[in-house]
Amino acid sequence: MALIVAKFGGTSVASPERIKNVAKRLAAMREQGDRVVAVVSAMGKTTDELMGLANAVSSNPPARELDRLLSTGEHVSMTLLALALDAMGVPAISFTGRQAGIETNGTHNKARIVKVHNERILEALAAGLLPVVAGFQGIDANGDITTLGRGGSDTTAVAVAWGIGADACEIYSDVDGVYTTDPRVAPRARKLSQISYDDMLELSSAGSGVLQSRAVEFAKKWGVVIHSRSAFSDALGTYIKEEPQMEEAVITGIAHDTSEVKVTVRHVPDAVGVAAKVFTALAARAVNMDMIIQNTSLDGATDISFTCPASDLPRAQEALETIVPQIGAESVDVEEDVAKISLVGTGMKSSPGVSAKAFDTLGANNINIIAISTSPIRLSMVIDAAEAQRAVQLLHTAFDLDSESVFEETQLSAEEIAAKMQKGR
Ligand code: ADP
Ligand code: ASP
Ligand code: MG
Repeated sequence: MALIVAKFGGTSVASPERIKNVAKRLAAMREQGDRVVAVVSAMGKTTDELMGLANAVSSNPPARELDRLLSTGEHVSMTLLALALDAMGVPAISFTGRQAGIETNGTHNKARIVKVHNERILEALAAGLLPVVAGFQGIDANGDITTLGRGGSDTTAVAVAWGIGADACEIYSDVDGVYTTDPRVAPRARKLSQISYDDMLELSSAGSGVLQSRAVEFAKKWGVVIHSRSAFSDALGTYIKEEPQMEEAVITGIAHDTSEVKVTVRHVPDAVGVAAKVFTALAARAVNMDMIIQNTSLDGATDISFTCPASDLPRAQEALETIVPQIGAESVDVEEDVAKISLVGTGMKSSPGVSAKAFDTLGANNINIIAISTSPIRLSMVIDAAEAQRAVQLLHTAFDLDSESVFEETQLSAEEIAAKMQKGR
């Protein structure tokens, strides 16, 4: 008899019918003799809709109020799932983040879990109930509701699994596992049977939406094995765990991220301490810079560019408005239509030539690389967003990741793919 945490994402609970299907699946797990705790996301696009409502009444909604509002999405889905289970004869009890004991720090909108109090969930299980936990939310030391960042229900699931010592943490979504790249963007993507925490962490951080990077970080730290699988089939998915693979590929996967923008400060005087002034001003406004590029100086002046999340752009612009005249720079340009493509693989450490091959592939296909950054297990390139899908597909083929079969499940139209590639915005 196993103790299982089963997390269902927005698509899996998008309608009453789907919620009933999830309830059936949970009931079947119990019938097999397992004890189950469910974690749910908000229904469908609810979180986006709530965010839209907040933006409709305020251009700068305070983070505390936003968290209060966003948390209501999961309140609806957790209650509906508990009702559906109850109607099926499975006694269930829903818990908010607070009731489930998810204690976080006070960083609203991207809070970190500091403690998991497992008592209520364990009591409910002991009483024969099926606990249904609202994902994505917690409570801080002041008793205020916090949220864990977009996609944060994955992190709730891993934290609950660790907190109650579950045997398995199953994350159900609309794909049947982790692929070498987003299979809706490159239908030749191949499903991985397992992936290491480090590779998964890099893929998630580089924009692979399939698992929240915080969830992978938490799982790695506490040794929780994640099973990413489909909410709509029984097929085995992908295990995210530490065990090394027999044969390590050079590149494990490719991620793309269209949520960043590129900002260029033009004609910055080439003098000691000037770059420090620019980046200190940006840091003071908590702008999360990713890549930084300084061009060679011409006539005593140079251009400095950096990328940052689009959501940080207003703060970056505020900071630069003050600093640009102070340092005697000329102007600020913003390029919003950029995409970051990242090749990830622990095998890259011992394989020289990855960058050369990637640059060659894009160059031979007339795709211009705007910026580059590397880590021992990741190579990221910023390109024009319009070329993102083509670049992912070309690199996927060049690095021998293509599968024989084509991913067929709900192939998207060109418009839908374009919209999906804009998802991070
Ligand atoms: P949920 O709403 O259940 O949390 P998400 O939308 O967050 O599900 O994650 C699933 C989506 O992640 C898939 O629809 C797929 O398009 C996307 N995705 C991105 N990269 C990958 C990848 N490498 N493998 C599988 N899916 C991926
Ligand atoms: N509902 C939240 C979101 O859309 C959390 C989640 O789905 O994991 O980001
Ligand atoms: Mg998700």
